[in-house]
Amino acid sequence: MAGGLIWDETYECMPRTELQQLQLERLQATVNRAARNVAFYEKEFEDLGIYPEDIQTLEDLQRLPFTEKHDLRDSYPYGMFAVPLREVVRIHQSVGTTGRPTVVGYTANDLRHWTDLVARNLTAGGVTKDDVVQIFFGYGVFTGGFGFHQGAEAIGASVIPVSHGDTHRQVEVMRDYRTTVMIGTPYYALRIAAAAAEMGVDPHSLSLRIGLFGGEVWDETVRQEIEDELLIDAYDVYGLSEIGGPGVSYECEARAGLHIAEDQYLVEVIDPDSGEVLPPGEEGELVFTTLNREAMPLLRYRSGDIGRLNIEPCQCGRTLARMSRITHHADDRLVVRGVNIFPEQVKQVLAEIPGIGDQFQLVVDRTSAPDHLEAHVEVAADSTPDSMGDLITTEQQIEKRLQDLLGMAVTVKLLQPGSLDLSQGQTRIVEASPKH
Ligand SMILES: [Zn+2]
Repeated sequence: MAGGLIWDETYECMPRTELQQLQLERLQATVNRAARNVAFYEKEFEDLGIYPEDIQTLEDLQRLPFTEKHDLRDSYPYGMFAVPLREVVRIHQSVGTTGRPTVVGYTANDLRHWTDLVARNLTAGGVTKDDVVQIFFGYGVFTGGFGFHQGAEAIGASVIPVSHGDTHRQVEVMRDYRTTVMIGTPYYALRIAAAAAEMGVDPHSLSLRIGLFGGEVWDETVRQEIEDELLIDAYDVYGLSEIGGPGVSYECEARAGLHIAEDQYLVEVIDPDSGEVLPPGEEGELVFTTLNREAMPLLRYRSGDIGRLNIEPCQCGRTLARMSRITHHADDRLVVRGVNIFPEQVKQVLAEIPGIGDQFQLVVDRTSAPDHLEAHVEVAADSTPDSMGDLITTEQQIEKRLQDLLGMAVTVKLLQPGSLDLSQGQTRIVEASPKH
């Protein structure tokens, strides 16, 4: 198994009492800066009669209100920035499930810290300067591509920024450039594996050894599939654009939860309904407070991601708490005729159907009685259906599988590749005719 090295022992292996002291100092500084320099927080502190000096312990954080996704949207584009724009050297955008995008800014120091966190992440996964790293996250306003790119360069690996694109091309690059590490979304890794098989490229003939995957929800079954088909060790990574992008947490060689960069992020787990903080080990919504960000400090930011924390020591030597793998998002749920539908479930069904792409949209029409659900699904960019009949058969096949899964009829419409671009602000869930 790969792994074993640690990029930054000072922070990754810091005794927890010392770590908590560091967190408190950084928290106080962050709260001060936010209350003084971010209009949104300034107003909030004033309205609620809270003063930065009220934060004397880490628990005092609970006296502050949450920051929610809509607060960021309402502050579009630059309202959450704590520094003048001339100090911002990079602007990214978060990929939301609904509504308009949220903007994320970085100062030069923020970029340096971000790069360092991703270097920790890569090192924990066993990536070294001897590796050839192929990144197929998108390069653009989304943080995945650039984030991993910077980190991989920092550790001295040879980076190939292939970005999104033709799946066969990914296989060719992998084969010809002797890629050893692949980084991107897990379901796309499966598509690459399928493309390799189609092209007659035997995974034994490739040099691949490690994959780091994130950006979407996946589970142990998918991990096993990826490992078997590509003959690699697959690691889960977690990032959230609003708080900086990839590098927030990552698996080590133990692959028993994702170590959180707690010197940079303070994490709470809350009951998503009551907002109450839950004790370690209980499952709830993860809430992040940034501890070192200059351009855009966030206090108690509700991630919408459901998980639990483990503060037990890890066999790798890191003292950083671990979060469980994310199984779903709190706000990514669609209720149709009383049935909870998570887009991830639909995604898993689609992943099993040949010729189908990654992109889909669920459209619910509530003006009909009962509510009617449609799934708009892109065919794969490299699929070549022989006839209209093939497409209809595929539609029916998906309809049947979704009916089995959800217990209700779903109309499936296949779309041309590229019709949906969910990284550019289109949403996964669409209310065709909202009631309100
Ligand atoms: Zn560990």
